[in-house]
Amino acid sequence: MIYQRSSALFKEAKTVIPGGVNSPVRAFNAVGGTPIFAKSAKGAYVFDEDGNRYIDYINSWGPMLLGHAFPPVVEAVIEKTKEGTSFGMPTAIETEIAELAISMVPNIDKIRFVNSGTEACMSAIRLARGFAKKDKIIKFSGCYHGHSDSFLIAAGSGAVTFGTPNSPGVTQGTAKDTLLATYNDINSVNALISSNPNEIAAIIIEPVAGNMGCIPPIDGFLENLRQICDANDILLIFDEVMTGFRLAKGGVQALKNVNADIVCFGKVVGGGLPVGAFAARNEIMDYLAPIGPVYQAGTLSGNPLAMAAGLAMLKAINTDKGLMNRLEEKTKYLHNGIAEALNKNNVTHTINRIGSMISVHFTDQTVVDFDSAAKGNNETFKKFFHGMLNEGVYIAPSAFETWFITDALTYEDLNTTIAAVERIANTL
Ligand code: PMP
Repeated sequence: MIYQRSSALFKEAKTVIPGGVNSPVRAFNAVGGTPIFAKSAKGAYVFDEDGNRYIDYINSWGPMLLGHAFPPVVEAVIEKTKEGTSFGMPTAIETEIAELAISMVPNIDKIRFVNSGTEACMSAIRLARGFAKKDKIIKFSGCYHGHSDSFLIAAGSGAVTFGTPNSPGVTQGTAKDTLLATYNDINSVNALISSNPNEIAAIIIEPVAGNMGCIPPIDGFLENLRQICDANDILLIFDEVMTGFRLAKGGVQALKNVNADIVCFGKVVGGGLPVGAFAARNEIMDYLAPIGPVYQAGTLSGNPLAMAAGLAMLKAINTDKGLMNRLEEKTKYLHNGIAEALNKNNVTHTINRIGSMISVHFTDQTVVDFDSAAKGNNETFKKFFHGMLNEGVYIAPSAFETWFITDALTYEDLNTTIAAVERIANTL
């Protein structure tokens, strides 16, 4: 592969944008080399500025569940644009997408749209604190809930990739209100509750973790969390920014039949435009301004283009009865193929998978929390990443990320991917 134009563009970008990127993980720091500049994308493929084609397993970090440039989304945005791009006034389409989202997701009465997953989680936690009238929250090491201050404490994703899970700039005062538990370890949660009686407003969790690789909850874990929250008057927040409308139409609440008190969305809900959302039952949502005391706002929130993209996306997901099964079958096929190729070459690995999320960890241990995810061999991952890239397969440039399977992937694409793993496995 030739990356001449990407290299030149990166050099130029670095002079005017910190690190040349507007979001750190894009910079390839964790794996080395020059980031690839995207030019266009269609279906399962992304094309770079040098004209190379890649089978894409990042998919804009999740939104492209149905493939890039999904025609109903593209058409909806083009049509909406002709009517004006933003009004700062309520629009009919906001109610339309809200009604559809509420009909798809269990246990929510109202939803508010924001511009990113970060905003959704940040607002959800403020709402939880205001409603519960308590200050502390529990989060899990390795979970990522966006880059707002309360969550940059042992955060996953880019924060851990760059060695800054606790970012400078977050004050001690803020940090002390974020308590840390271990994913899949209910005792760690119980211990925090016992030592902070009546002080915890909420527990926030990725109900399937996707920011330390993919880590599904072990049996009973979410159910236990629900019970503990009920017993201690704590709100349970599911951060479904990654899993919402992806692992099931109703997200993990529906998949695992466990109700959260507040649910956060992002990625898929915006169909590739900047959208986040948070939702809950009336009692909690009516605590928000303008009818309640907790303030939250946004000049571009509910932006018509973003709502048009999201609505087209949700409609497509809602009407496609076979979608979730197809996605799961494709992911399973990929899992089996990769495992076989790595096993043939005696490459130590563990693969985690649920629905259309999958991650390959270069460790022989089961990966159930941040510590076990961190045991993966990063040198092997780097070789794997660059080997795959050279084969025209684009996976996330960090071991602490999930691969996203899109419906646009054909079995031929999956076979090409597996063949690529077979070719590079003996170099790992
Ligand atoms: N929560 C989760 C679970 C996420 O995966 C992400 C982004 N990867 C966020 C929140 C933050 O979303 P955004 O990048 O849109 O701010």
